[in-house]
Amino acid sequence: MSYDVVVAGGGPVGLMLACELAIGGASVVVLERLTEIDQTVKAGSLNTPSVDALYRRGLLPALGAAQEENTAGMVKPGGAKGAPKFAGHFGGIVLRGDLIDPADPDLGGDGPGDNVKLVSQQQLEAILAERAAELGVEVRRGVELTGFEADQDGVTVTTTRGPVRGGWLVGCDGGRSTVRKLAGFDFPGTAPEVTAYQAMAEMENTQDLRLGWNATPTGVYAHGPFPERILTVEFDGVPKDREAPVTPEELQASIRRVTGAPVVVTDIRTATRFTDNARQASTYRKGRVLLAGDAAHVHSPFGGQGLNLGLGDAMNLGWKLAATVRGHAPEDLLDTYTAERHPIGAWVLEWTRAQIAVMRPDPHARAMRAVVADLAGTVAGTTYFVKQISGVWQHHDIPGDHPLTGGSAPDLELADGSRLADHLHTGRALLIDPSGQLAASVYGYRDRIEVVEGPVAELPQLAGLLVRPDGFVAWAADAGRTDPASLETALSAWLGAPAVTGAGGNPEAGAQPVGTVR
Ligand SMILES: Cc1cc2nc3c(=O)[nH]c(=O)nc-3n(C[C@H](O)[C@H](O)[C@H](O)COP(=O)(O)OP(=O)(O)OC[C@H]3O[C@@H](n4cnc5c(N)ncnc54)[C@H](O)[C@@H]3O)c2cc1C
Repeated sequence: MSYDVVVAGGGPVGLMLACELAIGGASVVVLERLTEIDQTVKAGSLNTPSVDALYRRGLLPALGAAQEENTAGMVKPGGAKGAPKFAGHFGGIVLRGDLIDPADPDLGGDGPGDNVKLVSQQQLEAILAERAAELGVEVRRGVELTGFEADQDGVTVTTTRGPVRGGWLVGCDGGRSTVRKLAGFDFPGTAPEVTAYQAMAEMENTQDLRLGWNATPTGVYAHGPFPERILTVEFDGVPKDREAPVTPEELQASIRRVTGAPVVVTDIRTATRFTDNARQASTYRKGRVLLAGDAAHVHSPFGGQGLNLGLGDAMNLGWKLAATVRGHAPEDLLDTYTAERHPIGAWVLEWTRAQIAVMRPDPHARAMRAVVADLAGTVAGTTYFVKQISGVWQHHDIPGDHPLTGGSAPDLELADGSRLADHLHTGRALLIDPSGQLAASVYGYRDRIEVVEGPVAELPQLAGLLVRPDGFVAWAADAGRTDPASLETALSAWLGAPAVTGAGGNPEAGAQPVGTVR
């Protein structure tokens, strides 16, 4: 059996990509070497673009339920009721929620997903695995990719359970990606200088540990939001053996060195050792082989970016690869994946490197840390850091000078009372047509686009809004204002040729359907 796409790796990014490919109409198989979801403690929260993406696919209720389960038993720094909300951190410098400028337009208003960010990686993987099953994605667990041969028409993948043939191969196989190495992607970056541990562990003698993030003369540690969670960072080079399981003795020694507290680790529920190795593939595509998630970029997890970055890759690549498979993608659509996602990945690497610079336990770094902490303690500073961490700044270079073009579409309330995100569940593009005059010009795209007519109360001047399947604005226009980009150009740039030819795709003017037209 042959598939349109073979996805190597069924972690969060592989599963998200598989779901995106499936709703885009591609047949997909996911090969995952583990037989169960990995329970090692990793990401614990989602950023704004990730929640927006999952909301646009109808997964907000599942995230809400997961968060409720996840946050039971959380403790606050100082254990204090009414302590300022933790709004994130920069290199362990804590950002206070009460210092965010509520008037900042980029953070404006509570989006529907604003209150469902504390979802663990394992919960998200379970949600995505269920969704993939509903969509008919074949997820083969206990199957490891061991090699592949790419030719002009596709890729033959070798696995521990026999060969699999696909039109395309996407490596979502994590930071040590076999696909990346075998395909010869280069992976430049900076070498690691820290060894860090994150664990959920049974500990005694913890009375001297302070909740939250703390810098000490020997490193940085974080304790909480669960009593068992501990994270340490030491600038002592890379671990000697990265594969060996973390033992209670090893974790305890690190905690004692960094905190100075006589903590005793009696048991480890889950623990991971990580470094600040920061590298990024120069391109995310080589012919029929692509990379997404940690396979395309690795960096330290400070500031909670990696999972979110990978989900963004999957959201960006999914519809583009599905359109390519279905044969209606514009020629260079797939290359816009690297063009749009590489700069965002590069920013994340720089953000994590900057945090390492202020965490070093040397006099210069400590002095710099004090300056950054002062800035972060102001309203303008906190607002800046929170905006960066939340990902609301993410924007693509899309032609047009309307302020919405290139950004993530606002979740507008539409004329029929529905919200914009409700119309993105199927993974098609969306045209909002306030005057009802644009629908005819997208007739030929009705297999790829949903049209909602009627005025938008929040934006009374809006004359039209074209939203890509990933929720980014491809074109927007206001009444009485000329934009250099036209709807027709945006349609052909992102959705390819119409499925109906002749007479502008308008049947009343004699156009002939050549594909499925709804
Ligand atoms: C301690 C820690 C804390 C973190 N905290 C955060 C955070 O707060 N926020 C955040 O956004 N990110 C965080 N991250 C990063 C986040 O966990 C990763 O970025 C995320 O897991 C990447 O997902 P992925 O699907 O690309 O790769 P992975 O999760 O690594 O998944 C890759 C999958 O591929 C499988 N695989 C590998 N090779 C093969 C093969 N040859 N054949 C078949 N299957 C294969 C693996 O078994 C695995 O399931 C953290 C990471 C760590 C280590």
